[in-house]
Amino acid sequence: MRVINFNAGPAGLPLPALERAQKEFTELGNSGMSIMEHSHRGKDYDAVHNEAIALMRELLDVPATHDVLFMQGGAHLQFSLIPLNFLPQGKSADYLTTGHWSKMALSEVKALGGMVGSVREAVNTEVDGKFTRVPKQSEIEIDAGAAYAHYTTNNTIYGTQWHYTPDVGNVPLIADMSSDFIWKKFDVSKYAMAYAGAQKNIGPSGVVVIIARKDFIESGRADLSKTLKYSTYAKANSLFNTPPTFAIYMVRNVLAWVKEMGGLDAIHARNLKKGEILYGALDAMSDFYKSPVEKESRSYMNVVFRLPSEELEAKFVAEAKENGMVGLKGHRAVGGIRASTYNAVSVENIEALVAFMEKFKKANG
Ligand SMILES: *Cc1c(COP(=O)(O)O)cnc(C)c1O
Repeated sequence: MRVINFNAGPAGLPLPALERAQKEFTELGNSGMSIMEHSHRGKDYDAVHNEAIALMRELLDVPATHDVLFMQGGAHLQFSLIPLNFLPQGKSADYLTTGHWSKMALSEVKALGGMVGSVREAVNTEVDGKFTRVPKQSEIEIDAGAAYAHYTTNNTIYGTQWHYTPDVGNVPLIADMSSDFIWKKFDVSKYAMAYAGAQKNIGPSGVVVIIARKDFIESGRADLSKTLKYSTYAKANSLFNTPPTFAIYMVRNVLAWVKEMGGLDAIHARNLKKGEILYGALDAMSDFYKSPVEKESRSYMNVVFRLPSEELEAKFVAEAKENGMVGLKGHRAVGGIRASTYNAVSVENIEALVAFMEKFKKANG
C-alpha cells in the first residue's frame, strides 16, 4: 500500500506519472523496448526528450530568449559550474544567504579560489546559527557591477520561501529553485538562469533542469572543457553526451500530469490551499505546535514546526508512520518536524496530516 509521503527529496511523485511508467516500463509505445534501452540518438528517445522540453516551455511560458537544458551532477554541480562559467577572475558575484543551500552555493565558489573571481554576500539573514526568514528588498545591497546575483527561492531545510523576486537592477539574476520549481508560474524573463534538481518537485534524482537566457549562456568563459560549459549543452539540445534518459522520461510524465491537472495556475491554487490548511492548523494549535518561521516567509513546500519536547517529536514521527504518513522528521541540522508538501501531495493528504496532529495534541498536550 502506498503511504502519504512527506519526504523532502527524493520526494513523492504523482501516482499517474508512476503508473504511466509502470505501463511503459518494458515497452515504450510499440518500440519493442524500454525507454532505458533506447539510444539517446534514436527517434523514440528524441520524441520523449523534446516533449519534456516542450511541456516545460508551455507550462512556464518560457520566452524564446531562454533555453531549457538537462544536465547531471545535481544542484551541487551547478554551485561550481555557475562561477566557472560566469565569474571570471577580476569580477565579483553577489550571493544572498538565506539558508543551508545558499550557504553551500557560496562555499563552493570560495572553494574554487583563484580559478574564479570573488564573492560577497549581498545579504545574510542568519541569526544565532539559524534562519527564520528571507530578507526584505530594503535589506539587500546589490553591487551594481556584480557578474551575477545568486539566491535560493525556497529554503528546503529551514522552511522559508521568497514570495517576491529580488530586484537586482541590471545584474543577471540566478536562482536555485530546486525545492519550489513549478510550484507555480514565475516570470522567466527576470532570470538569467534558474535551475532545479528534479528530485524535489519534478521527477527522480539524476537530472537537473536549467532555464537560462541564451545570450547569458553565450557570455560564459570559453576556456573550459566542453563538459563544463553550458554552451555545449545548449548547442546540442542537451544531447552532447548521454543524458539521464530515464530521469528525463519521468520528468516528461510529471509535466504531462501537471498539464492534465490544469497547468501551473491550478497547481498553484492547490498549493495555496494546502498551505492555508496546514498553517491554519499550526496557528490554531500554537500552544502545542510552534512554527519557528516568520509569517511572511512561510514556505508552501516545506512546512517546519516544533513540539514541546524532542521526545514528543520522536513519538509524533513514529505514530504518524503507524498512520501511513512518512518523511516527517526534520533535517538533522535543525531537528523538529518537517512536512514537505510538494506538488504530488494532495489537499486530502494535508487534511489527513492535520487530523492526525489534532488527535496527537489531544492525547499528548
Ligand atoms: C536538495 C537541494 C539541493 C541539493 O540538490 P542535489 O541534487 O542533491 O545536489 C540544492 N538546493 C536546494 C534548494 C535543495 O533543496
